[in-house]
Amino acid sequence: MKDYLKGLIQEEMNRGQSLKAMIPRPLKYSELEGLAVDCETKIEATLGLLQDIAGELEDRGDGDIRDLHRKLRQCHRYLALLESFGVTALYCGTPEIGYLTKLVYKVHQEINFPVSPPSVACISTEYYYYHAVTNVIFVPLTESDYLLHIPDLFHEMGHAVFDRREEPRLEQSNKAYLEILQTITQHYHTLLKQKRRETGPRMYPDLIRHLYQQWLNWIVEFFCDLFALYTLGPAYAWAHLHLSSKTSDDVYRLPFPEWEEHPSDEARMRMLRFGLEFQGFGTDAKAIEAKWNGMPFTHVSRPSRDYHYAYPDDLLKKVAGTVFEGLKRNRFNVVDAQRLSQLGEDSIVHLLNEAWDHFWQDPCSFRKWEQGQVGELKARLGVMDALHTPSNS
Ligand SMILES: [Zn+2]
Repeated sequence: MKDYLKGLIQEEMNRGQSLKAMIPRPLKYSELEGLAVDCETKIEATLGLLQDIAGELEDRGDGDIRDLHRKLRQCHRYLALLESFGVTALYCGTPEIGYLTKLVYKVHQEINFPVSPPSVACISTEYYYYHAVTNVIFVPLTESDYLLHIPDLFHEMGHAVFDRREEPRLEQSNKAYLEILQTITQHYHTLLKQKRRETGPRMYPDLIRHLYQQWLNWIVEFFCDLFALYTLGPAYAWAHLHLSSKTSDDVYRLPFPEWEEHPSDEARMRMLRFGLEFQGFGTDAKAIEAKWNGMPFTHVSRPSRDYHYAYPDDLLKKVAGTVFEGLKRNRFNVVDAQRLSQLGEDSIVHLLNEAWDHFWQDPCSFRKWEQGQVGELKARLGVMDALHTPSNS
């Protein structure tokens, strides 16, 4: 067993060295420097741990070495994680990765993002998501040719804020989160007390306890939605409508007794509409509501009888208001109607809102305009790759 572990340590050390060697130097895109240094530092630290395990193994007799095996497995898992969620993106270093990483870098300056911006890797197999260990946003391969779902990058940047909320620079965002936590707890505690007094079906206390547990997770997604809305504006709400239209099976989903990471798409949209009101985009909120209500997916399913327990208006409004104040206190550049109208032509926030205006003016001819804008933006950001779709599509 001891010899086997020695071999295993050697193999992991070799893998760590290979992984480090696969980080291309010099980097093609300087915006990936933060990710490269982070991966190198973490690989080095893991190699150091493996060295320590090897040293400890030498001093041990043939007795129990399960603790060393356990430490070795942790090192293996960590290297695998750095490989999948960090080094692969650096190794690929495609123009698409360069472009979207530069775009997020520019957005982080525009919105006054107070911590290091995430990198972007266009190698996702599951739409958009964020990985906290490497600070990388994953998106599908073709995203770099389009604009309508780029608002979702703002949602993923919200995850970066949420995950690092305990850093001093995000203190006010964290305070908003803690305030929401209190609001949710109070709301469901009161509801539970009330339901216990009533002589209704036994199921209600279970449902309410379940919804409270769900909310502890849903806070994260609602926070990220609101972060995107407040830093970007109506474009994010339109992108949510568009995504729901393409992917939602039931916009009124009420998970009970099963578990659901995301709140229902209808509740997310309602929260966004309340958020738009806080920002002073009341007209946009009404326009979005009208479009949403006209969509087939709002009619193919109906909310269940207990749906309102999960997503009551007053709770959604309170959460939207708390995040609005928290982000302003945290000095994020929160968008309102006046600020949006004053943004320059080179602003990404301006472009993404303009894209949605153009889309609704004429959805069928939008692609031509979009291609022109994406081409110009890529050139402006210094990534000169061609678009990947025929111009007559
Ligand atoms: Zn999310």
